[in-house]
Amino acid sequence: MSSHADHPTVIVGAGPAGLTAALCLARYRHRVIVVDSPGAPRNSASAGVHGHIGMDGVTPAEFRARAWRELSRYTTVERLEDEAEGVSSAPDGGFRVALGSGGTVQAGTVLLATGVVDVHPADVDGFAECWGRSVIHCPFCLGEENAGGSWATVADNAELAGMSAVAFRAWSEDTIAICPETMPGLETARATARSGGGDVVTGTVRRLRHREGALHGIELADGRVLERQTLVWTPRQRQQPVVQRVADELKLTVDEAGFVAVDASQSTGVPGLYAAGDLTSRWKQSVTASTAAGAAAADAIHMAALLAAVHH
Ligand SMILES: Cc1cc2nc3c(=O)[nH]c(=O)nc-3n(C[C@H](O)[C@H](O)[C@H](O)COP(=O)(O)OP(=O)(O)OC[C@H]3O[C@@H](n4cnc5c(N)ncnc54)[C@H](O)[C@@H]3O)c2cc1C
Repeated sequence: MSSHADHPTVIVGAGPAGLTAALCLARYRHRVIVVDSPGAPRNSASAGVHGHIGMDGVTPAEFRARAWRELSRYTTVERLEDEAEGVSSAPDGGFRVALGSGGTVQAGTVLLATGVVDVHPADVDGFAECWGRSVIHCPFCLGEENAGGSWATVADNAELAGMSAVAFRAWSEDTIAICPETMPGLETARATARSGGGDVVTGTVRRLRHREGALHGIELADGRVLERQTLVWTPRQRQQPVVQRVADELKLTVDEAGFVAVDASQSTGVPGLYAAGDLTSRWKQSVTASTAAGAAAADAIHMAALLAAVHH
């Protein structure tokens, strides 16, 4: 069954959100096409996916390989290794998904599950080598693997800077925050950090000294070097280009930070168009949150198909 009787659901992106939605829809016996670009996944720099029960420590590549092995048992699921370039309304209802290879796919329903792109700072030497190892975006994901050493965090707001020593104490008893000199609330942040056993240092990170991705020093623009083994740095994120195109074409609502707005059933508000996973929120980015969102989207797509069949 599909919400648009003749056309399948097209899922754009085969990360935890898209793959889970594909599995759930397959079990509802929907026809599904999963379009996945062959590029490296967002978490590919990490040695293991952590905090997802049954999979803790499994490599990102193995996580996906297992998912595809499971999906291959369902004859209603098709995998298309391609880049979705855009989604537009089809004249006879549903959508057309334009592919990078040149073709298009007709869809009754579309689920966007393209994740986000972490924008690495362009002018910090060594960032890419340490990313996902000793430069971490999230202690939940990689704190355990970095526990025990001295930490730093790059913060541009006083609240985060002040709280960092306490917030990261589960993993390190020695955390400093690196902040811009011009940050409002700097002195209050410093006082809060010190009362929690940490400190605030002002400056701009220029270079990361490391051995094969294992950080040992943070060089600031003025030449100072902070001896640290772990750096928590959550870089800016941007949407995949296809999302911006879909937003323009189908008038998707995005919030002020650029995330796609969805309701509790992962609907974007455009009938038949759903979104799930990292692209919908800065604050619910994890494998478990994305799989849950993918499952919720599948439920909603199935329910919409049932209602459409009843009212037909
Ligand atoms: C270094 C690092 C380590 C992490 N470690 C953990 C961890 O240990 N535990 C945890 O819970 N979370 C971790 N995360 C976060 C986790 O990876 C994400 O929250 C999760 O992968 C989001 O799932 P998703 O399905 O929304 O997107 P993604 O996993 O990013 O998948 C999106 C997919 O869509 C594809 N895609 C994008 N654009 C297109 C297009 N136009 N056409 C077709 N396909 C497209 C991408 O190639 C990708 O395969 C980590 C993140 C990073 C950066």
